[in-house]
Amino acid sequence: MKLTEILNQNKLSLSFEVFPPKTDTAFDSVKHATEEIAKLRPSFMSVTYGAGGGTSQYTLDIAKNIKANYGVPTLAHLTCVSSTKETVHSKIEQIKAAGIENIMALRGDLTPQLEESDRSKWAYRHAVELIRELKEYGDDFCIGGACYPEIHPESTNQREDIKYLKEKVDAGCSFLTTQMFFDNNLLYNFLYKIREAGITVPIIPGVMPITNGNQVERAIKLSGSFMPQRFKSLVDKFGDTPAAMKQAGIAYATDQIIDLFANGITNVHVYSMNKPDVAAAIQSNLSDILG
Ligand code: FAD
Repeated sequence: MKLTEILNQNKLSLSFEVFPPKTDTAFDSVKHATEEIAKLRPSFMSVTYGAGGGTSQYTLDIAKNIKANYGVPTLAHLTCVSSTKETVHSKIEQIKAAGIENIMALRGDLTPQLEESDRSKWAYRHAVELIRELKEYGDDFCIGGACYPEIHPESTNQREDIKYLKEKVDAGCSFLTTQMFFDNNLLYNFLYKIREAGITVPIIPGVMPITNGNQVERAIKLSGSFMPQRFKSLVDKFGDTPAAMKQAGIAYATDQIIDLFANGITNVHVYSMNKPDVAAAIQSNLSDILG
C-alpha cells in the first residue's frame, strides 16, 4: 500500500521507525524487536538505511519481513551521497522486486572523508537528484523526503532550506517526514512557513521518545534540536534513574503527540528505535484517542 493512501485517510494514526542491525549476529534480535513493533499494527513502519549503505541488505530484509509476515505497509529508506548510480539503481530494483512501494529518498550525512573528497566526482550531491531518478520509475513508488523544522544543520537560513525543500516536493515527494523536535511550536511555525511557500504535501511529524538520560546528548548533537526548559528539567531530575527516565520520556512524547493530533496532524511517526516496549506504551497511552 502506498503511504499517500494512509495519509489521506483523515484518521488519527501512529507509525514507527526501526533501524537495521549493524552486524550478522545482531540480526535475529533486531528482527524480533521489529516484529514485536509490527504486532502493534501501526499505520506503517519505516526502516532506516545505514549511513554509507553498509547494512543496506538488512534494511530490505527487515522491511520485507514486516510487510510479508505482518501485513504492515513499509517505507524503505535509501541514501545516495556515498553511492554510485549503479549501486543506487540496483537497490531500487531490489526494493521494487520485494514489492515495497514506499521509499524515503535521502541524501545521507556527510562523513569527514566525504567532506574532504572532490564534490565534482560525487554521483549524487542532494536528495533531489535521487528523487528525480525515482520518479523515472513512474508510479512504482510513493516517494518521501526529509524536512527540518529547525533547519538542516548545513543550511545557513530557513528561507534557503525551504526553497530546496520545495524543489524536492516539485521533483516528486508525496510526503515529508520531519526531523525530531521537542517543542511543538517550532513545528507549527515551520508548517506555516512551508505552506506559505506552496508546499502542500502531507507532513509527518517525527517524535523521538527520549527514554534514557544518555540518549539526550547524542540525539541533540545529531538533530540540533532545541531543548525546552520543561524537557531539560525532566532530564535533570530523572536522567540518572533509568526506570523513571523511561516513564517520563514516554509521557513527554505522548503529550507531544496528543498536542499534534489536537492541532490537526493526523499521522505521527515515532522514532521507536527498535524498542517494542516504548512503542507499545505510547500506543497504549493513546488507545482511546486513536480509537
Ligand atoms: P538534502 O535534501 O539533500 O539536504 C541536505 C542539505 O542540502 C540541506 O541543508 C539542504 O537545504 C541543502 N540542499 C538541498 N538541496 C540542495 C540543492 N539542490 N542545492 C544546494 N543545497 C541543497 N540518514 C541515513 O543515513 N539513513 C537514514 O535512514 C536516514 N533517515 C532519515 C529520516 C528522516 C525523517 C530524517 C529527517 C533524516 C534521516 N537521515 C538518515 C539523515 C539524513 O540523511 C541527513 O539529515 C542528511 O544530512 C540530509 O539528508 P536530506 O535527504 O535531507 O538531504
